[in-house]
Amino acid sequence: MPFSELGLSEKVVQAVAASGYTEPTPIQAQAIPHVLARRDVLGIAQTGTGKTAAFTLPMLTLLETGRARARMPRTLILEPTRELAAQVEESFDRYGVNHRLNVALLIGGVSFGDQDMKITRGADVVIATPGRLLDHFERGKLLLTGIELLVIDEADRMLDMGFIPDIERIVKLVPFTRQTLFFSATMPPEIQRLSDSFLHNPVKVEVAKPASTVATTTQRLVRVGREPHEKRERLRDLIRTTPDFKNAIIFCNRKREVATLQRSLARHGFNVAALHGDLDQHARMAALDSFRSGEVPLLVASDVAARGLDIPAVSHVFNFDCPHHAEDYVHRIGRTGRAGRSGAAFTLVAPGDEKSLGAIEKLIGQPIPWDESQPAPPPSEPDERRGRSRGERSPRGRSRSERPRARGRGETRAPAEAPPGAAKERRDERPARNSPARPERPAAEVRAEHRPPERRPERPRDPDRRERPRERDPQQRREPNRDSERVLGLGDHVPAFLLRPVADKAPK
Ligand code: AMP
Repeated sequence: MPFSELGLSEKVVQAVAASGYTEPTPIQAQAIPHVLARRDVLGIAQTGTGKTAAFTLPMLTLLETGRARARMPRTLILEPTRELAAQVEESFDRYGVNHRLNVALLIGGVSFGDQDMKITRGADVVIATPGRLLDHFERGKLLLTGIELLVIDEADRMLDMGFIPDIERIVKLVPFTRQTLFFSATMPPEIQRLSDSFLHNPVKVEVAKPASTVATTTQRLVRVGREPHEKRERLRDLIRTTPDFKNAIIFCNRKREVATLQRSLARHGFNVAALHGDLDQHARMAALDSFRSGEVPLLVASDVAARGLDIPAVSHVFNFDCPHHAEDYVHRIGRTGRAGRSGAAFTLVAPGDEKSLGAIEKLIGQPIPWDESQPAPPPSEPDERRGRSRGERSPRGRSRSERPRARGRGETRAPAEAPPGAAKERRDERPARNSPARPERPAAEVRAEHRPPERRPERPRDPDRRERPRERDPQQRREPNRDSERVLGLGDHVPAFLLRPVADKAPK
């Protein structure tokens, strides 16, 4: 069925045609007529199914009549992360080229000024993360009593991130007579309860998981040792030697690991960006843009920041850490093999990951084969005694750009008596024989390892701060990285200034 038969306005049909889409996806074909008929919709669908257009296209059509009033937006879309919110805004830009609508993006990490201006002018569409929306409301800048249509997107992700109390509060602030569209990839009991209370006689639209990604993406497991430096070395080998490599998203389980891995890869000469919830909005968008444009071929990311991102041409996904939650595996590998392209996903599996791996294989309903092309070393064997496997270059054989660089400004001196883990790390990252200086750990990295544990805020406001509860798994806190317990180069004494948290967020 073509788009023109779904009841969309001429302006919208033209914009869709200009985007190059000829056929609606199943969720679009099923949901759009009901949205246009002003029905509530419960959509069970993941990203990658075309669900953003399933609500933006009919919204554009409905918004052609009526106009926005100052500080009283007409429609509201709630998204769990800033990136997803920005992606929905892009969708309105693309499909709304023939409209003159005011769209306001209310997300954390950027100043209130521009956002205030857009609301004051009268917004047809507000796209927001829950925390920032409530901030605007509490500052008295926003009235939600004019909302005609509410979209709650990625509801199960909202649940994971602890946003449900905020969502419930927002729903009480919008009119009872609104139209509601509620999307979730899964329907756990808590989400079912919410949909029952938010929706009135909804039409249920369910599309199969984009299992095609799981089916068309080559998946491989790569055995690695437990030590972080061994995992990092294995990853570098994979990046260097994997066939048909163009670009990759590398997933870590923790934000701190994202930052550490990015620094390590950069030290080894890779062109790499990072995406995690502690970065300010500018840095997050810059990282994404550089990766999307192809300027930077590697993006190290945490699950929350990268979930649902629509980056069409990702040739590889590397799971630096085996995900603790099996659904995260499906979301991660769903970043590659999109839009009919082939993709490949490699998961590093360390001793202790067996349980997580078992849950993943159970969820996807198939065993994941081990990568035979690069026989793994026995775990934790020092580099010198290990035979070099295919594609593994000797330090001398490395290109200049891949060699660890010599100590530079702002980096610490190597510890006189380093602990075993650190010694291995240095051996692993040893420079070429003729290199003038040993590579050493940047001061920031040492500081990061000695940061005191962050306190869980009682009721965090910023959506990104709320990524923490998930990523700071209690299990991980019980089993801290052994490196982090040690003091490098300072004996047993850690000066107080090194224990102070490092401010890497931009002031709001
Ligand atoms: P979403 O599930 O909304 O994240 O969309 C996933 C991808 O599908 C995005 O790149 C969309 O631009 C693309 N897409 C959306 N609708 C269509 C369509 N009807 N035909 C082809 N691609 C589409």
